[in-house]
Amino acid sequence: MAEGKKVKLALYWAATCGGCDVATLDIEERILDLAAIADIVLWPVAMDFKYEDVETLEDGSVDICLFNGAVRLGEHEELAKLLRQKCKVMVAFGSCACFGGIPGLANVANREQIFNIAYKETVSTENPEGVTPQTELEVDGKKLTLPVFFDEVFALDRVVDVDYYVPGCPPAVERINDLVDIVAKYAETGELPPKGAVIASEKALCEECPRKREEKRIKEIRRPQDFLPDTEKCLLEQGLICLGPATRGGCGARCINANMPCRGCYGPTAAVRDHGASVLSAIASVLGLEEETELTEEQLTAITDQIKDPLGTFYRFTLPVALLNKVVQKKEVE
Ligand code: SF4
Ligand code: SF4
Ligand code: SF4
Repeated sequence: MAEGKKVKLALYWAATCGGCDVATLDIEERILDLAAIADIVLWPVAMDFKYEDVETLEDGSVDICLFNGAVRLGEHEELAKLLRQKCKVMVAFGSCACFGGIPGLANVANREQIFNIAYKETVSTENPEGVTPQTELEVDGKKLTLPVFFDEVFALDRVVDVDYYVPGCPPAVERINDLVDIVAKYAETGELPPKGAVIASEKALCEECPRKREEKRIKEIRRPQDFLPDTEKCLLEQGLICLGPATRGGCGARCINANMPCRGCYGPTAAVRDHGASVLSAIASVLGLEEETELTEEQLTAITDQIKDPLGTFYRFTLPVALLNKVVQKKEVE
């Protein structure tokens, strides 16, 4: 970057709840630092830019894009590709962009099944003609092309090359500040972290968790609404399903500090291929299931049956990037 030149920044939201955009504003006065070093060329939630404004920009003329949300629609894929073409650096911002996130749980069903429920089967729906979203529409003799609703939800790096990942639902303020520091350093020196870097910890959440662990075995799985957990002891050892052992740290253990177990929004550590499978193995160990030869099949089933909604529990944020995603989809198609 030439000295004194401002960084050109684009922020975009795809399949998102808007929380990642709000989290960007949570950095409070540091937003002024960002304003001092960056010119924003696109930010649909806050400013009135048109997609055509982006199309007219020269390729590679925008420095950094913070892309939040998963890819659900053809429009999201189109914008991801357009922004990839216009931006030097693409950042997957938030768990939805990094792993598919909460919208990715819809991968248990395909487009037709989703449309049937949403537009035909719910008790509050009145749709006698069974109309579902179309991809083409004729209005006053003019044909309009509408966004395609894909059969599955994708993480951003399934459709474009991604340079950096900022996980979290939404990312913690401290990590967004790290990102502002990266942008500031880039503005000053032109230097960037190594490609593929994850702006979070390299260690598992358990390693930054302040709670005491005693490698205690548990007899039953409990849910947060059933009791008030001890605030000093490991939540997993109190019977709550806490995804800390397989989840990347960096959030400051914010759920644990609120006496709630980790739900895994930072996704897996680099050492873990499949987030849910790794958590399952940690839970099996604390339940003593590794010694399952001593348990009868009924006892084993009684324990595993206590886990309500296993898919939503173990793959809440990562189903689209899980090995299981294909299995779930294949099963739905068969
Ligand atoms: S990562 Fe979480 S906060 Fe961000 S868009 Fe997705 S659901 Fe919302
Ligand atoms: S399992 Fe959860 S509560 Fe226990 S140490 Fe790990 S992060 Fe903390
Ligand atoms: S404790 Fe777990 S679920 Fe909560 S913010 Fe941290 S990584 Fe996300």
